[in-house]
Amino acid sequence: MNLFILTFIFLLLLKVIVSTVLEMTNLRFLRNHSSKIPECFRDFIDSNSYLKSVDYTIAKSRFSIVQEFYEATILGFLILGGVLPFLFNFFSESLGYGVWSQSLVFCLILFLIGLPSIPFDWWSTFRIEERFGFNKSSPKLWLSDKLKSGFIALLLGIPIVALLLYCVRLAGSAWWIYGFVVIYLFQLVMVVVYPMFIMPVFNKLEPIEEGNLKKRLFALSERTGFKTKSILVMDGSKRSGHSNAFFAGFGSFRRIVLYDTLIEQMSESQIEAVLAHEIGHYKLGHIPKMLLLSGVMSFSLFALLGWLSSSSLLAHSFYFTGLSLEQLILPIFLLFLTMGGLISYWMSPIGSAISRRHEYEADAFANQAMGDSQPLMSALRQLHTENLSNLTPHPLYSSFYYSHPTLMEREAAMQ
Ligand SMILES: [Zn+2]
Repeated sequence: MNLFILTFIFLLLLKVIVSTVLEMTNLRFLRNHSSKIPECFRDFIDSNSYLKSVDYTIAKSRFSIVQEFYEATILGFLILGGVLPFLFNFFSESLGYGVWSQSLVFCLILFLIGLPSIPFDWWSTFRIEERFGFNKSSPKLWLSDKLKSGFIALLLGIPIVALLLYCVRLAGSAWWIYGFVVIYLFQLVMVVVYPMFIMPVFNKLEPIEEGNLKKRLFALSERTGFKTKSILVMDGSKRSGHSNAFFAGFGSFRRIVLYDTLIEQMSESQIEAVLAHEIGHYKLGHIPKMLLLSGVMSFSLFALLGWLSSSSLLAHSFYFTGLSLEQLILPIFLLFLTMGGLISYWMSPIGSAISRRHEYEADAFANQAMGDSQPLMSALRQLHTENLSNLTPHPLYSSFYYSHPTLMEREAAMQ
C-alpha cells in the first residue's frame, strides 16, 4: 500500500459518500415540500404537474445514486485491479510505442473503459425519460448517435493525443507548457467548430421561420445590437421533449440556438425574453470569461501533469512497471484522465457559482432590453413547468451542482 493508492481510495470513497449524502439531503428536502405546492408556485403550476415534477426528481436522483456506486466500483476495479496496465501492455505490445500507435492505444482503452456506462445511458433515455414522456428518441437513433459521437471522438482524439506525445518527445520536461498551448488552442477552435460542424451532424439547424415571431426577434436583435442571421432553430424534438436555448461561439462565429420544443411551448413574448437573455450572455462577454477561467484551470492541471510525469512514481504505484520514463507518459495520461473526476468534482462548485452569476446578469440584461421583467419571469416559469424541474432543491445541493440559480432565486433577484 503506497501513498498514491491510499489517496485514490480516500478520494473515491469521499466522492461517493458526499454525493450520496447530497442526493439524500435533497430528496428529504423535496419530500418535506411535496405534500402541498409551495405558496410562491401556486399561480402557475397545478398540483398534477407539481407532483409529476417531484416524481421525476426522485426517479432521477435514485438513478444517480445507483450510478455513482456503480461507476465508483468500476473505477476501483480499473485502477486497483490492474486493468489499465493490462490493457496498456496488451495493446502496446501489438501496436508499438510510436507516437501514433500510442495515440491509438489511448483511444482504444478509453473506448473500452467507457463501455460499462452505456447501459446507464440507455436506461436513462428509454426508462426514465420515457416514463415521464420526454423521450422521443428511438433505439435506432440512439445507436446511431453513439456511433457518430464515437467516430468524431476518434477523429479528434487520435491527432490531439499524438500532438501531446510529440510535445513530450520534442520539449522534454517542459512539454506540459506546449501541451497546455495545444489543448487550449484546441478548446478555442472547438468553441467555433462545435456549433458550426459537429452540432449539424446530430441535429438540423435552420434559420427561424418567416412570420411575426421572426419579426419580433429581429427587432429585439436590432435594438440590442446583435446580428440576426445567427438566430437558429434546432430540431431538439427529434430526441427529447425537453426545451432549451443557448448561446455558442464568439465573434462572427456566434450563434443563438432555440429548440423547436421551446418555440412550441412558449408564447412570442416569452421567446423574445429568452432570446434577450441569450443576447445578454453575448453582450456581457460570458463565453470569453468562461474560456479564460478554463484556461487558468487547464494551465494548473497541465502543471500538475508535468510534475507527475517527471518521475515514474505515480505510474509505478498503479502497477505500470518495466517501462521507460518516456513510455510511461501515456499511462500517466490514462491515470490522470480516469481519476481526474475525483478531483474536478470538488472544483465544479466554483464553476457553477460563476455560471450562476452570469445567469443573474443575463436576466438583468433581458429585463432591461424588454423594459419589463414579466415576460422573462413567465418564460422561466414555463420552462421549469414543462421540463418538470425540481422547484425546491436543497440550497446546499443547488449551490454545489446548479449552473443556473433556482426559479425562486431568479424571481427574487428580478423583483
Ligand atoms: Zn443563461
